[in-house]
Amino acid sequence: MSSLDELYEKLGVRKGISAAGTATIYGGSKLRPEVTQIMIEASTVMLDMDELNIAAGKMLGELTGSEYGLVTSGSAGGLLLQACAVIAGDDPAKMARLPDTEGMKNEIIIQRSHRFAYDQCYRAAGAKFVEIGDGKRCHEWQLEAAFSDKTAAVAYLFSPGLSKMALSLDKVCEIAHSKGVPVIVDAASMLPPRENLSKYHKSGADLVIHSGGKGIRGPQGTGILSGKKELIKAAYANAAPHQFLGRSAKVAKEEIVGLLTALNNFVNEDEQVENFDFRNKSQKVVDAFSETPGLDAAVKHDNVDYLTPVSSLYFTDEWEGPKAGEILQRLQEGNTPIFMHNLIHPDELIFDPLNVDDDEVDVVIKKIRESMD
Ligand SMILES: *Cc1c(COP(=O)(O)O)cnc(C)c1O
Repeated sequence: MSSLDELYEKLGVRKGISAAGTATIYGGSKLRPEVTQIMIEASTVMLDMDELNIAAGKMLGELTGSEYGLVTSGSAGGLLLQACAVIAGDDPAKMARLPDTEGMKNEIIIQRSHRFAYDQCYRAAGAKFVEIGDGKRCHEWQLEAAFSDKTAAVAYLFSPGLSKMALSLDKVCEIAHSKGVPVIVDAASMLPPRENLSKYHKSGADLVIHSGGKGIRGPQGTGILSGKKELIKAAYANAAPHQFLGRSAKVAKEEIVGLLTALNNFVNEDEQVENFDFRNKSQKVVDAFSETPGLDAAVKHDNVDYLTPVSSLYFTDEWEGPKAGEILQRLQEGNTPIFMHNLIHPDELIFDPLNVDDDEVDVVIKKIRESMD
């Protein structure tokens, strides 16, 4: 027995299988082995963190098709720094006062359909939201009318399952820039596809955050902030190792090295080969349930709500067994919990193969079958 198995047994923690994509609650993603290796090496090399962060920022700029980058503590830590940067800049007198933003430009305009749980990270830096549009759509005039002399930025969210009727990023950038206001983007879970690494910069976004521990399979605690050099410099001024608000979201030297390695390998991989593998695993699950009455099983992949190939098990009105939510519960029972989700539709179980090894697919199929009885 490995010492990890011994420890988990002592703690009473079960080892599971995550077919829930890159959900942080189930462990995020499996770290790339080559990343684990370089992190071990980097963990005992002492150096100047400014030197490392500045060099890493240059490489991140190249890899994301933007001017500069910064490794952050997850996307959540990156959102905090986006807000710090647009509100306080790199002015130490302002930076030291955060999250007290009285008298500063502290308003962030956001479409109501883009409000989400993580936007608390913006508010944690003292940002005040100016909400526009309704929960679904937003008009250009509503954005035009929302600017004031206290506007710090316009926030923009990309995430599967969002309204397709929000103002486009291109339009938002065009209007915001005409007022001299930056646009900050949360695209945490939008990789792969790899094209999304540079896509939002091409639309004109000033700062973009992507998670390092989701589809890239870098260190779970990392994020990639990329964009305009002046704003990245301001974000970094607010961040660890400096002693301002971002210090609460510290990133370790080995995490920076791990993220650079993961991202470099991620961008150089063949996405078609990867998708072929995801599709095969997904098809295997679909085939196992294609004859089940009351169940519509299909592989889905549309680059919008299903960013990589997954299997969708949709329970129709003819389904007579337990509800999808009950099945999700049952899957998590026993010695090997299996994690799936129904986040897109309550009656649709998603099998996402991104973190499922070849030999785990049959284990998942067997347990889904048992959980349906
Ligand atoms: C996952 C996610 C985050 C948080 O990302 P972490 O890297 O886990 O901090 C923020 N925003 C969105 C839209 C996300 O999907």
